[in-house]
Amino acid sequence: MSLTIVKHATCTFCGCVCDDIELHAEGDKIVKTKAACSLGTSWFLNHTAERLYPAALIDGKEASVDDAIETAAEFLYQANMPLVYGMSNVTCEAQREAVSLAEKIGAVIDSHTSL
Ligand code: SF4
Repeated sequence: MSLTIVKHATCTFCGCVCDDIELHAEGDKIVKTKAACSLGTSWFLNHTAERLYPAALIDGKEASVDDAIETAAEFLYQANMPLVYGMSNVTCEAQREAVSLAEKIGAVIDSHTSL
């Protein structure tokens, strides 16, 4: 299998957005990183182009995206203290939408960095 080397890759795992990472890939699998920290290395080495999950799940079972959105909306509507959590590995546009949703439902916002 041929080795592909990508220089100046950007890591979006923690928010520091290091953009000087070198990646070595065999096919779709990244096999080596240079200049990434341990978190970034773990993220890249476990990141694949394979589709591991269906587009949506409800209670761990495959569902349509429309049904999943309806179910999520019902959970949020019923919640007494909603929490919008996560937002790592997502775009600024997605974070903007999450903040907008949190404001609409009176939620608290937290990111994975609180761990
Ligand atoms: S996880 Fe590490 S390599 Fe990735 S952006 Fe954060 S500090 Fe940089």
